[in-house]
Amino acid sequence: MFRYRSKDLANRITEKLKEMDLNLRLMHVCGTHQDTVVRYGLDEMLKEVGVELRPGPGCPVCVTTAHEIDIAVSLAQRGVVVTTFGDMFRVPGSNLSLADAKAKGCDVRVVYSISDAVSIAEKLNKEVVFFAIGFETTAPATAATILSGVPENFSVLSAHRLIPPAMEFLLKMGEIRIDGFINPGHVSTIIGEKAYEFISERYKIPQVIAGFEPLDVLFAVYMIANMVKRGEATVENEYRRVVRPYGNERAKRLIEEVFEPCDCVWRGFPVVNGSCLKLKEEFSEYDAERRFEDELKEVEAREAREARARGGEEASGKKGCICGEILRGISTPQDCELFGKVCTPSRPVGPCMVSREGSCNIEFRYRRGRL
Ligand code: SF4
Repeated sequence: MFRYRSKDLANRITEKLKEMDLNLRLMHVCGTHQDTVVRYGLDEMLKEVGVELRPGPGCPVCVTTAHEIDIAVSLAQRGVVVTTFGDMFRVPGSNLSLADAKAKGCDVRVVYSISDAVSIAEKLNKEVVFFAIGFETTAPATAATILSGVPENFSVLSAHRLIPPAMEFLLKMGEIRIDGFINPGHVSTIIGEKAYEFISERYKIPQVIAGFEPLDVLFAVYMIANMVKRGEATVENEYRRVVRPYGNERAKRLIEEVFEPCDCVWRGFPVVNGSCLKLKEEFSEYDAERRFEDELKEVEAREAREARARGGEEASGKKGCICGEILRGISTPQDCELFGKVCTPSRPVGPCMVSREGSCNIEFRYRRGRL
């Protein structure tokens, strides 16, 4: 991988970009890209040559809403064993995180995969729910597990989301100017190049799928800059060593067999059409939202009461936390008054500081020395 970290080549690319006299704002939608960008200082390097990089809704933990966490917490409080990935454990809901629920005696367990959650269900005589988060990258594993057969006491609380509808939504909203997208390597491995073409066609915006090494990102920026200069708006693929035009057909079939897209809210966003994955009718017995329908009605009623008490406003996170704005690309961690003072990875206020893929967490880990 060292050839993707050559300083000499990086300098040559930035020289070329400088000659192009650019004024571009590019967005990426991937926590791993943000890690690469900040770790290697690519954003600062690119700013010098007229290119601003903005992270969007690329952290799956961060975009999961307080309402979805409230549902998981509520199930745990009712004696259900709730299993989920480590980063999700500490993200606050409206009142409690799953970690808080565990501290109060609920059975919440961190797992590394859905198979671990199934193994727990096989050993217990209790209801076990897997709180499934993640984009197109993790949904195939959830689908494959359900298709392979799971115990009767096992169900899935799906918070899986799809990236292209969120990208389109950002363009439709038009809150900030976006001149091009750097598309996520991992998600693209599953969905392929073709899945993004409708965005370029409808919004005349260039997109480049990029890998995760620093030179991958710089090449992607260079490819977008060239498209802009040529007046083209298509999908190009910098990450050809991994991503195919149609992605991973088997993984896509698994998703299609088990899930169907539905409208849903993302943290910081209103309803994004067709952007979440819910279990199809034929798998409803494994759908925690249907299995625990009555309990969930209570969560909704409580949230409606709390929203009325707030004067009808949606719970968008803890007071002062601007994760929602950061996920929409209109603010940065430095715009948050709590960043690095009240909110740190050891005492996170919002999900963008909890998750290692969150912009605030990444900013703090690599640039805290400058605070
Ligand atoms: S620094 Fe903390 S409080 Fe501020 S936006 Fe980030 S997660 Fe939210």
